[in-house]
Amino acid sequence: MNRKSRIAVIGAGLGGLTAAGFLQRAGFAVKVYEQAPAFSRIGAGIILSANVTKVLRRLGLEDGLIAAGIKSQSYVSRAWDTGEVMAEFVFDAAAERHYGGPYVHIHRGDLHAVLERGVTPGTIAFNHQLVDLQEDGGSMHLAFANGANAEAEIVIGADGIRSKVRDILLGPEPPQFAGFTAYRAIFPADRLNGFWIPDCTKWWGSDQHCLPYYLTGRRDEVYAIGVVPAEGWDGEEASVPTTRERYLESFAGFHADLQRVLEAVQSVTLWPIFDRTRDDRWSAPGGRIALLGDACHPMRPFMAAGGAMAVEDAAILSRCFAQFDDPAQAVRCYEATRIPRVAKVQDISIANTWMRGPTETDWFYCYDACTAPLAPLH
Ligand SMILES: Cc1cc2nc3c(=O)[nH]c(=O)nc-3n(C[C@H](O)[C@H](O)[C@H](O)COP(=O)(O)OP(=O)(O)OC[C@H]3O[C@@H](n4cnc5c(N)ncnc54)[C@H](O)[C@@H]3O)c2cc1C
Repeated sequence: MNRKSRIAVIGAGLGGLTAAGFLQRAGFAVKVYEQAPAFSRIGAGIILSANVTKVLRRLGLEDGLIAAGIKSQSYVSRAWDTGEVMAEFVFDAAAERHYGGPYVHIHRGDLHAVLERGVTPGTIAFNHQLVDLQEDGGSMHLAFANGANAEAEIVIGADGIRSKVRDILLGPEPPQFAGFTAYRAIFPADRLNGFWIPDCTKWWGSDQHCLPYYLTGRRDEVYAIGVVPAEGWDGEEASVPTTRERYLESFAGFHADLQRVLEAVQSVTLWPIFDRTRDDRWSAPGGRIALLGDACHPMRPFMAAGGAMAVEDAAILSRCFAQFDDPAQAVRCYEATRIPRVAKVQDISIANTWMRGPTETDWFYCYDACTAPLAPLH
């Protein structure tokens, strides 16, 4: 595609910033429009597996991720009641070589600060909430809630699960409550009073699970996400404050080692989990609008893979835009390359079986979105 093309990325999340970084390196003029006034430090962590870290390495961000987060050494699956170890995955130097990248846990606020370094200063226009998008001849016209307007040849909708770009493309369709809520708590590790925990443990109940893991290489900050079934979610809030007592109550009967961790929780919030039925329409005819990440395939966070899929999408979409002269061909290739892999990950996320027991992980962690073959166009 003509490298003078202006590309507007809507949303400065994981996918949007990764796409912007790669497209700028390919020579495109890229602007990212973000509705938030600034990045906020929401109380949550995220796991970035080797298939993500090796992509972000190409943007010069790997060292920053490791410095801000932790190179995890292990992931242990344990039974909720007996504590039996159902599976253990080691992420030592040999595993890092094998997978082609480290397995990192990081605070989401710190992740955003690192991702911002991957784009040219001034790329992100904060406080720009997209409200309208019109195609007029060769240009896309963008309108924002703050009254600003912009033009671009290509628009990438990286605006998350409630994507406005998706609404404009496919018609409004709110995401569905998935029947689960997630407790999210971050607390200083000294509240464990010396109680040793592995870098990451997933405690598996029948229809609920809890995942405490460290967020820093100093192992001084712990994140504990606990997912429980729920009948519904009233209201528009993205999250509501709750209490340690409620968190403990929801995991009453779980093994004493988990109780010990949850007793260390200070403040905690409760988040609804939403998703959508699979829909493979990710772009507009002509290729001027393309969606990525949660905007086109939100997933239940049970495989810790939604962000990973957004980052992989960003790398593949950028390669397609750089490789094809015609944007329509570029997005066809992007969809053909991405949809089968994303669909598999979406199925596993719904089933919530990933790493519950012995699991073949190479197809997921060894994948490199910067070099993986692009699907042939017929
Ligand atoms: C509880 C929980 C735990 C998770 N844990 C993991 C994990 O460990 N590992 C993992 O890989 N994934 C995890 N995920 C999934 C992951 O968070 C998402 O899949 C990922 O954030 C999607 O990235 P994205 O770039 O598509 O969208 P987002 O990160 O949601 O970014 C979208 C951005 O667009 C902006 N935006 C929205 N609308 C507009 C608009 N109209 N105009 C301008 N800007 C707009 C938003 O403000 C936001 O900054 C988890 C999810 C949840 C809910």
